[in-house]
Amino acid sequence: MSGPDNISKVERLRLRDGGRCWLCNEPMQFNAPPNSAKAPTLEHLVAQCHEGPSTLANLVLCHPRCNRLLADKPLAQKIKMREKRRRKAWEASLRTTAER
Ligand SMILES: [Zn+2]
Repeated sequence: MSGPDNISKVERLRLRDGGRCWLCNEPMQFNAPPNSAKAPTLEHLVAQCHEGPSTLANLVLCHPRCNRLLADKPLAQKIKMREKRRRKAWEASLRTTAER
């Protein structure tokens, strides 16, 4: 996927979602070379092989590595993966706060 249409989608998703990875919630680098570790990629929540459309409602941005982890898994499983990561990050932040 490339071309101006794709770029504007990335830009619109960046504005909508705040420029963080859908899966790991780490920031992405929008000026990074395409497919480098922190570059944004388009992730289809309902994978294209499961008839997921390429509309913004079905798209989120995530790192290339996170995109590969999500791949064409069912949406319910993707959401579980995301919740697991968010919970881990939340627990880590609680520990950091408690240590202060
Ligand atoms: Zn990520």
